[in-house]
Amino acid sequence: MRVHEYQAKQLFADYGIPVAASAPATSVDEAVAAASELGFPVVVKAQIHAGGRGKGGGIQLAEDATDVREAAARILGMTLVTPQTGPEGRVVRTVLIESASDIAQELYLGMTIDRANRAITIMASRAGGVDIEETARTNPDAILKETIDPLLELRPFQAFRLACRLGLPTKTARGVSKFIQSLYKLFREKDCVLAEINPLAITADGAPIAIDAKLNLDDNGLFRHPELVELRDLNEEDPLEVEATAVNLNYIKLEGNVGCLVNGAGLAMATMDLIKHVGASPANFLDVGGGATAEMIEKGVHILIDDPDVKAVFINIFGGILRCDVLAEGVVAAAKKLDVKVPVIVRLEGTNVEAGRQILQESGLSFRSAVDLREAATLVAEAVKEAS
Ligand code: GDP
Ligand code: MN
Repeated sequence: MRVHEYQAKQLFADYGIPVAASAPATSVDEAVAAASELGFPVVVKAQIHAGGRGKGGGIQLAEDATDVREAAARILGMTLVTPQTGPEGRVVRTVLIESASDIAQELYLGMTIDRANRAITIMASRAGGVDIEETARTNPDAILKETIDPLLELRPFQAFRLACRLGLPTKTARGVSKFIQSLYKLFREKDCVLAEINPLAITADGAPIAIDAKLNLDDNGLFRHPELVELRDLNEEDPLEVEATAVNLNYIKLEGNVGCLVNGAGLAMATMDLIKHVGASPANFLDVGGGATAEMIEKGVHILIDDPDVKAVFINIFGGILRCDVLAEGVVAAAKKLDVKVPVIVRLEGTNVEAGRQILQESGLSFRSAVDLREAATLVAEAVKEAS
């Protein structure tokens, strides 16, 4: 789960990580009131779950109330396109009004779980600011790393060593070292998978301050943090994915046109491979799981049919704990309620498969039934060809 910059900075403040005074605003009047409270100059910052906002025109310095009014009016409601949003952009619903900082130097600080190393890795660079992605590509050696032993956790000397390797004077290095240790504490206690401060600014008097704040939380750790779940912003997520998680379906939208409904992640992978193999492309990953009910299946079919990219549906089920007759009932119920205009290919195998096939046959709906995977693949390829 991602959170907004203003939410991350609130958490930073709780952990003693230095941030400038700020307040979120959802209207122009709120923005002006917040700025007057903070004192000028301020920075008006678009809050979306994507970076590169500066480059897209979503960050603006404001010297007085007139500036804030103009900036907030322009940014609130705009569709912000940045190198990270894709061409469709994101609608800005909130701005952060923040006291402007006097920046002498811009560093980069990142923390992530490095799966290859099986350890949290801290990254830092002198080349902070808006072009870090370019640096990572062209000059990866400019990004310094420190691997954290999961049994020993972050040792203070490691934080200080990293700060010194950045070539900072001792006093500043001490401040940055403390910054890193506080961020690490937050990272561990809140079950983060990524923290990124870019830039981590050094002010004119040598103190570190988080100018930007990106925090990604581990979805599997969220049950431990009900207070963090409340930070979720559904506006920033794919609406079909939101619908799917609400009923415990594993759904990920992809770019192709064959909607797939499968049980089990392994079978889902194999199914996507198969679709590719016959020259088509999956529109999604949808795993209904082992214990899916007829209602969940119905919802799954619903989600597939609601996706305008889907030109054919492929239901590929191996009935184990999920019985084929339960699956068939769900599919029939969904198809009766919805106006299904695309071909639906069904391949069933496993527990109660005969009963399942019978339910599909007797439904009076036009499913294309396949006995095995090879036949299913052929039918999928045909259906996609018909559609195009
Ligand atoms: P991003 O473009 O989404 O990464 O947004 P950032 O929060 O990183 O802001 C982009 C850039 O705006 C930063 O790298 C800074 O150079 C500049 N910026 C943001 N806030 C301030 C501020 O308070 N003072 C100054 N001088 N520059 C700022
Ligand atoms: Mn940034």
